[in-house]
Amino acid sequence: MERYDVAVLGGGLLGCFMARELRRYPLKVVLAEAREDVCTGISRANTAIVYTGCDTRPGTLKTRLCVEANRGFDTLCRELGVPFSRRGSLMVSYGPRADRVLQNKLLQGMENGVEGLRLLSGREAEEQERGLAPGVSSALYAPGTGVADPWGLCYAAWENALANGVAPWLGAPVTDLLPEHGGWRVVTLRGELWAAAVVNCCGLHADQVQELAAPPSVRISPEKADYLMLDEGAGNYVGHVIFHEPEEKGKGLTLVPTLEGKLLLGPTEEGAAGPASATTTAGLGRLRQLAAQVAPQLDLNLTIRSFAGVRPRPYSVVSARSIHDFTITNPARGLWSLIGIKTPGLTCAQALGAWLAPQVAETLGRREPDPTFRPERKAPVRPRTMSREERAALVARDPAYGRILCRCGGITEGEVRDAIRRGAVTLDGVKRRVGTGLGRCQGSFCTDRVMELLSRMLGAPPEDLWKDGPGSRLLTGGRYGEG
Ligand SMILES: Cc1cc2nc3c(=O)[nH]c(=O)nc-3n(C[C@H](O)[C@H](O)[C@H](O)COP(=O)(O)OP(=O)(O)OC[C@H]3O[C@@H](n4cnc5c(N)ncnc54)[C@H](O)[C@@H]3O)c2cc1C
Repeated sequence: MERYDVAVLGGGLLGCFMARELRRYPLKVVLAEAREDVCTGISRANTAIVYTGCDTRPGTLKTRLCVEANRGFDTLCRELGVPFSRRGSLMVSYGPRADRVLQNKLLQGMENGVEGLRLLSGREAEEQERGLAPGVSSALYAPGTGVADPWGLCYAAWENALANGVAPWLGAPVTDLLPEHGGWRVVTLRGELWAAAVVNCCGLHADQVQELAAPPSVRISPEKADYLMLDEGAGNYVGHVIFHEPEEKGKGLTLVPTLEGKLLLGPTEEGAAGPASATTTAGLGRLRQLAAQVAPQLDLNLTIRSFAGVRPRPYSVVSARSIHDFTITNPARGLWSLIGIKTPGLTCAQALGAWLAPQVAETLGRREPDPTFRPERKAPVRPRTMSREERAALVARDPAYGRILCRCGGITEGEVRDAIRRGAVTLDGVKRRVGTGLGRCQGSFCTDRVMELLSRMLGAPPEDLWKDGPGSRLLTGGRYGEG
C-alpha cells in the first residue's frame, strides 16, 4: 500500500490549493479525487469575483482570509500565470432600505480593513455606469473587487501541485477512512493508501466523507444558483462588477464583465433543490426580470448560454443553526475537513490552504519550509494575446498553433493539444482549460475536431469519450451499416 504524509481528498479549488500549500513543507502529499479530472464540482460554476471582504462579518476567519487574499491576488495570479483584472465594483441601490444596507456595508468594510471604499451619490454612479436604470439613490464603490478565471486558477494550482511532487489519484472516490497505525487507511474505488493525516475538501460531499470517520457535526444542504452568459461585446455594457441591492428582501442581480469580454448575470438563490446542475425556469425568469429593472438597455438576445451552480449550505447538527463563517473541523487526530465553504471560496482557496497547511505540518513535526518548493507555474501559450511577430515565430516552431480549431474564440489546435497533455480527458476538460465551445456557436464548429484530437491523443475510440464525466457520452456508436 502506498504511504503518504498527507492525503488531500477532493480536487476542486480548495483541494488543489491545499495540496499546493502543503508542499511548501517537506511532506509527501497525495490528492484523491473521485472524478477523472479536477475542477468538476462546485468550482466548475461560480461568479468569478474576487471579493474585497466588505460583505462579511467583522472578526470572522472568512473576513480575515478574504481581506488578505484580495490583497495578494495579483501576486498569486502572476505566480501561477493566470489572468486577473481589478475591475472594481459598484453596489447600487434604488431606495432607502438598500441605501441603509450600503451604509452598513461601508462601515463594516472599513472595520474589516478594506481599502478605498467610497459611498457615491446616485448621480455619480449613473455617470460612471450609463447602462444602469435611472433612479440610482446611492452606490458603494470598492476598487479592489476583481474578476478572475476560476477554471484557470484551479488548473494552475493543480499543475503547480503536481510539479512540486503531489501524487495524483484521479478516478478515486473515497469510500472509507479507517484509523490505522496512528494515521488513516484511505479506501477508494481505485485502491487503498495510507496517510498520516487527511484533509477533506470534498465540496458538496465533505460532510459525508467526514462521517466515514467521525460523528455528524456539520451537514450540507445544496442550494441551486442560475446564471445567464451574454456574448462578447455585452461585457462592455458595464465597466465595473455591479451588485444590485434590491429594495425588497432577496437577492438582487450581479453583472460581471468577464475577462473574455462577455457578461455574466446571476446568480439566483433557488433554495435546496438537489445537487443537479440543471437550470430552472423560475431562476432564469427572475434573472431576466431583474435585468429589465437594473440594466434596461441590455439586449438579452445576446444570451449564448445558461448554466447552474450549486452552493453547499452548511448547518450545525449540534446547534441546529446555519453556519456563516468558514467551517474547518478537526474531529479526530490527523483529520481536518473544510465543510460548506461557499462564497468567497474562490477568493480564499489559496488563503485557506496557507492557513491550514502549517497546522497540518506542525502536527506531523515538519514545520520547516521545503527549499525545493517552487510556487511558479508557466502559463500556457495563448497565440491570440501575442503580437503578429510572436505568433509567426510560434507557428514556425509548431504549425498546430496556426490552425484555428474554435472559430468563436480563435483557439488553435496547438492549444487544445497542450490542454490534453496537461490532463484534459473530456470535452469539458478541454473547454475549461482553453475555452473551446464557450463562444456564440457553443461548440457546433469545434466539438468534432476536439473529439478527434482527444480520441487520437488518448488512444480512445470517439464513442468512449465523455462530455463531462460518467454518463455523458456524446456518441452511441456508428450509423447503421457502418459496422
Ligand atoms: C453559485 C456559486 C457562486 C460562487 N461565486 C463565487 C465568487 O464569485 N467568488 C468566490 O470567491 N467564491 C465563489 N463561490 C465559491 C467557490 O466557487 C467555492 O467555494 C469553491 O469552488 C469550492 O470549491 P471546493 O473545492 O470546496 O469544491 P468542489 O469544487 O466541489 O471540489 C470538491 C471535489 O471533491 C470531489 N469529491 C466529492 N466526494 C468525493 C469522494 N468521496 N472522494 C474523492 N473526491 C470526492 C468532487 O468530485 C469535487 O471535485 C461560488 C460558489 C457557488 C456555488
